[in-house]
Amino acid sequence: MEKGDVNREMGVQAAALFVPDLDDLAAVVAKVLSTNYSVSSCTVVECPDLTKPPFDLAAPGICGKTKLVEIGGVPNLVPEAKYAEKVYDFEALGKLANLDGSFVLGAGAGSKHVVGVNCEMMPNLILEGEKHAAKNNTRVARVNAENDKCVLEHYGEKYDSKEFCLLCNAFCSAGDSGKVLKVVAKVRTGDDNLVSCIRKGILSHYGPEKPIGMGGTFLIKSGKVKTHVMPDFCSCPLLSEEDVANWLNFYEMDSPFMCLSTFISQDPGLDLRVEHTHGYSLENQQGGHYHTDVTPDQIEYVGYFNVAQEIVRVDKPTETHMIGRD
Ligand SMILES: [Zn+2]
Repeated sequence: MEKGDVNREMGVQAAALFVPDLDDLAAVVAKVLSTNYSVSSCTVVECPDLTKPPFDLAAPGICGKTKLVEIGGVPNLVPEAKYAEKVYDFEALGKLANLDGSFVLGAGAGSKHVVGVNCEMMPNLILEGEKHAAKNNTRVARVNAENDKCVLEHYGEKYDSKEFCLLCNAFCSAGDSGKVLKVVAKVRTGDDNLVSCIRKGILSHYGPEKPIGMGGTFLIKSGKVKTHVMPDFCSCPLLSEEDVANWLNFYEMDSPFMCLSTFISQDPGLDLRVEHTHGYSLENQQGGHYHTDVTPDQIEYVGYFNVAQEIVRVDKPTETHMIGRD
């Protein structure tokens, strides 16, 4: 199929988000974490240098000009993959959504036209701009069709690409250091994954009228996580959650595992995916879409998050549904 134009016209909508006082937010997050983990805390700290191991981020921090950006969506993939028409490029989006020089992290789908197959993408890059030097630490994870094993690749070094397909959830910032939330959680006692736990707690406290968007990074220091990696496109339509689950390749991945996460407490009517987290392990050469931890007694998280000032919605699908948003 012929590849779509990354510079084509796309709809762009933006909405301001509620920005709570960081100390108040830390208290809310600390409280909800204690309902899901036996040891936990949330404090306001100066962001450590996240370019250092084990975080491997392209920029030192997640502060300054923060925004959530959601591009495309699952309806580009389900029930049928319209990948030929749906190719995006971060630099082109930078112009369209005023992201020049932004540090972008999050979860999306790598380009079939670059990698050769459909794949998971862990965006981790600084766009062209004047402040920080452009850098591309993005990784992709694909399925080796011969043995079903996960293959992790450096999208920046191997392919030198900023292109992607289908969908992406990004947290953008100036990449500066500054005040952030530090989250620690060990030994899971509840049912929620780390992101759902925080998101639901924020929604419950602030309410649906005050949507709060967040993004950042967290490390799984010990324990294992359930992930999926999309295999190549399915020739048959995916009509239900069950069809999607049967199509995906699921894995248990080992720690250390570094995640890139975006979430919003409440969709303010922009057809959003309210949470999306991808991650990878340089030590174990694995990566994919984070579902939850599978070793509640061993699990240990440490993460750094910041609040987004606005949400930008790009190329919202015209026909939508709620399948495949887990
Ligand atoms: Zn995903």
